[in-house]
Amino acid sequence: MLVVMKPHAGQPEIDAVIEKIRSLGLTAHPIPGAQRVAVGITGNKGGLEPELFTTLPGVADAIRVSQPFKLVSREVKEEDTVIDVGGVPLGGKDLAVMAGPCSVESRGQLLEAAQAVKASGARFLRGGAFKPRTSPYEFQGLGEEGLKLLAAAREETGLKVVTEVMDVEHLAMVADYADVLQIGARNMQNYSLLRQLGRVRRPILLKRGPSATIKEWLMAAEYVVSEGNYQVALCERGIRTFETMTRNTLDLNAVPILKALTHLPVIVDPSHGIGLRAHVPAMARAGIAAGADGIIVEVHPRPEKALSDGQQSLTPAEFDELMRQVRVIAGAVGRGV
Ligand code: PEP
Ligand code: MN
Repeated sequence: MLVVMKPHAGQPEIDAVIEKIRSLGLTAHPIPGAQRVAVGITGNKGGLEPELFTTLPGVADAIRVSQPFKLVSREVKEEDTVIDVGGVPLGGKDLAVMAGPCSVESRGQLLEAAQAVKASGARFLRGGAFKPRTSPYEFQGLGEEGLKLLAAAREETGLKVVTEVMDVEHLAMVADYADVLQIGARNMQNYSLLRQLGRVRRPILLKRGPSATIKEWLMAAEYVVSEGNYQVALCERGIRTFETMTRNTLDLNAVPILKALTHLPVIVDPSHGIGLRAHVPAMARAGIAAGADGIIVEVHPRPEKALSDGQQSLTPAEFDELMRQVRVIAGAVGRGV
């Protein structure tokens, strides 16, 4: 249920609603809005009587939330969530552009990539220090050394760092270095990790599991938000289908569906989505045209030498050309870059 306060309701009236919710053994989630405050309620098994709340002073309405994902739904918060990543917006009118190598490999490789993507207009640097590889014999990432290189690249360029955290064990360490914590597709339903992410004060980029439905994905986001971290963005990165020509099938259907169902920002990853360098720009353009709030793109100074995902990494020159196109499309759909 969502308790909607009147526009002029004061803190004592909001506190009284929260107190009432707690007295029923339920959890209150105050949600500030542009016009008025609302208080989400979770923890109830069945439906609640609206009169429990509509009779309290300052309450405009008490509405049943029909979706199983409550706090991330647009029913509970109508306005788009804009995450403030140390002064750089993630969500909102301006597109968030994240770019960089799949894996952090060396100081030289990372700095070269960072400087290039910055020059082309990206404001976030991506790069994995902990890599979830399909084979245990493949490059697993540089670990903390990679995180240090990401911090050095941030120092040098001012770009915000997006990097993956794979497990609860390394969460505190990765959160120390990262500006945005990426949750990989393989971990989307790692509920103990999701719960812990709800307790850190860092924005989360939650990638879609390769076989997760949109509903399961939103429920995964709900795990994080229900623990108190509202700074969650969703990333469509392709799902597994019967198609074998492409690495995954980038499900751009998910973009308008998500934009209707949730207030969370939606990012598209065309690199993992199609997995083929030649076609990454087309899918990046399509993602923005479909209404995504940003893109995350793999860029490597020498893709043929990359230790992971070279086949889908753009060269800096290709990324620069993509950014030129992105600006045109953004303008056509009323967005800035
Ligand atoms: C990545 O971003 O390099 C990555 C491993 O992505 P995903 O979790 O979507 O496979
Ligand atoms: Mn990758």
